[in-house]
Amino acid sequence: MSACITKELSCPGCGAVNKSRMWVEIDASADPEQREQILNETLFCWECPDCGYRAQMVYPCLYHDKERGFLVCLSPAGRTQQVIEAEQRHPALAGLKKRLVLTPAELKEKVMIFESGLNDVALEMVKLALQELTERKQQMKVEKAFFLTQSEELDYLGFSMFLRGEEKPVYQGVRLEVYEKSLRAAERVDFQESGFQLVDSALARTLLEQ
Ligand SMILES: [Zn+2]
Repeated sequence: MSACITKELSCPGCGAVNKSRMWVEIDASADPEQREQILNETLFCWECPDCGYRAQMVYPCLYHDKERGFLVCLSPAGRTQQVIEAEQRHPALAGLKKRLVLTPAELKEKVMIFESGLNDVALEMVKLALQELTERKQQMKVEKAFFLTQSEELDYLGFSMFLRGEEKPVYQGVRLEVYEKSLRAAERVDFQESGFQLVDSALARTLLEQ
């Protein structure tokens, strides 16, 4: 089920009021164009038709992939009433993953992870270890880390790491056996699929500490 709403927005650049479309629900199979825009990071880019002013406009959006069995709820304000209502509309089903993300970059990452058939809890554990390694090596704090690519052929999982104050990321990779190990660890920890969950580095840290 997809849903697109139209809202009037006034441009911060020139003040002109124009109608703008917002995708509040996206269905992966029915909206291939919007899926593509999530992956190339343009869905939340807004441009003023009058003066060309560009800005990122992030709003709550629910992404649904029925075939692969996952739902990702993008909610910049976190666990809002809207998220709770979406939870009630999409009850827990066996095999259905439900995730909460705060940014378009995290939404893109979840889509990539689940489309690759990977387990995001295990991946967060890999990322955390890699992040600590990168911080030691670079003597700098890693602010954000994202899954980038998986290659069976090259025996490789790639990630981008954004160091504090740096615009360009550094790239880091691990062999697939590192992921396999994390996968076994992820199966042993107490993680239950229920409502829309934040599966991020904080969760990975908590699970690993147990
Ligand atoms: Zn404008």
